[in-house]
Amino acid sequence: MLKLHIISFGCQMNAADSEEMTRPLLERGYQMTSDIAEADAVFVNTCTVRQHAEDRAVSQIGRLRRWKSRSPGRLLIVAGCAAERLKESLQKRFPFVDLVSGAKSIDEYPAALEQVLKKKFNFEKETGDYFPSAPPAGLKSQPFSGAPQSHVTIMRGCNYSCSYCIVPAVRGREQYRSPAGILQEIREKVSRGTREIMLLGQTVNSYRYPREAASFGRDALLTWRRTGEPKTARDFVDFPDLLRLIEPTEGLERIRFMSPHPHYVSDSMITAMAECRKVCEHIHLPVQSGSDRLLRLMQRNYSRLEFLSRVAKLRSAIPDIAITTDIIVGFPQETEEDFQDTLRLVEEADFDAAYCFKFSPRDGTAASPMQGQTAEAVKKERLKRLLELVESRALSKKARFIGREVEVLMEDVRFGKTRNFFPVKFERAQTPGRLARGVIGAFENAALVVKG
Ligand code: SF4
Repeated sequence: MLKLHIISFGCQMNAADSEEMTRPLLERGYQMTSDIAEADAVFVNTCTVRQHAEDRAVSQIGRLRRWKSRSPGRLLIVAGCAAERLKESLQKRFPFVDLVSGAKSIDEYPAALEQVLKKKFNFEKETGDYFPSAPPAGLKSQPFSGAPQSHVTIMRGCNYSCSYCIVPAVRGREQYRSPAGILQEIREKVSRGTREIMLLGQTVNSYRYPREAASFGRDALLTWRRTGEPKTARDFVDFPDLLRLIEPTEGLERIRFMSPHPHYVSDSMITAMAECRKVCEHIHLPVQSGSDRLLRLMQRNYSRLEFLSRVAKLRSAIPDIAITTDIIVGFPQETEEDFQDTLRLVEEADFDAAYCFKFSPRDGTAASPMQGQTAEAVKKERLKRLLELVESRALSKKARFIGREVEVLMEDVRFGKTRNFFPVKFERAQTPGRLARGVIGAFENAALVVKG
């Protein structure tokens, strides 16, 4: 029995891509293993969003030299965003890697993998017993991992050009899956036990698909060019429409999505979120800065006021919604006044949690060579102040649940998440994969606790 080990760095998009890209191997009979020593194939999905993530991925590949040298028949695949950015240098530096497949090449990946496998094995002779003869079935849908939550990728790439971000360079322009393909994947996963789906896309709520093409019911990836784009909103299925299409899926309990862009949080999206019972009361809405001057330098395409007005509309339409965000500190030219604007925005938006990062310059982005880079010590000190504020507010936001009954989707016997995405621990064992209800009795170690 051939064994496969996956090492995935970075975001949920990457985790979903890892599932998707290892599907051809699983369909050929590979079995998953958590023990790298017994693996016959290792799939490394790299991330390049921050220098630290890229460095970790590269040193991981270096460490695999020994694993590979123990048996030259072993298969090593390196994929993802860092693979896209460093393709040639990775191939030169690590010649023992069998296949380097960048994030933009996901559609060509099955054919490239097929070539590598053909060179490596005589399938008929060595693996005929359990390798099906049919070629891998494309990359449009992801294999089911057996968990009550599943990812469903609805679009790839990004049409934005935020000045700090390498993603558009390594993942390319937006491509959208057809509603038919998305619905089919969701139904399949629900029929095998999924209760909650996370719709994924780099800017997930910019999703759109021509109504005319959607009516054919095919699963296809589509990139729109400037010419030939539909003229009115009614010419295409947009993100709010997609939520309404998914809502009636029988057996599905919860719908989440990641990551929306504030520019596309329209009134119709907020209404769809409020009206679709299965859409959870949580949105992760990256703001990045509270300063208009910095938002312009970052090329984020919204102002502080626009962001706050969307937050206010979400809170008024969806009572109890949890709003989380990402914030960058120490962007080039950030003054103390800009930073104070960010602190004030954190208070005004009343976030439930925020992931805060020091600005990390990435080669190939507009922000990397900008004048006025912020000194490391200043970034560190501002991050500390921001985290103190965010954490103190997050504590009081979670404390509001004490004494309230919540619905929890159990991920194992004791642990699950509320609809607002808060972790909950049950003292009494529950059934994994099922919805449980309980009254929150305490808040301990960052989790809400159902006692007794
Ligand atoms: S919206 Fe901006 S930050 Fe997000 S992936 Fe696109 S370019 Fe990067």
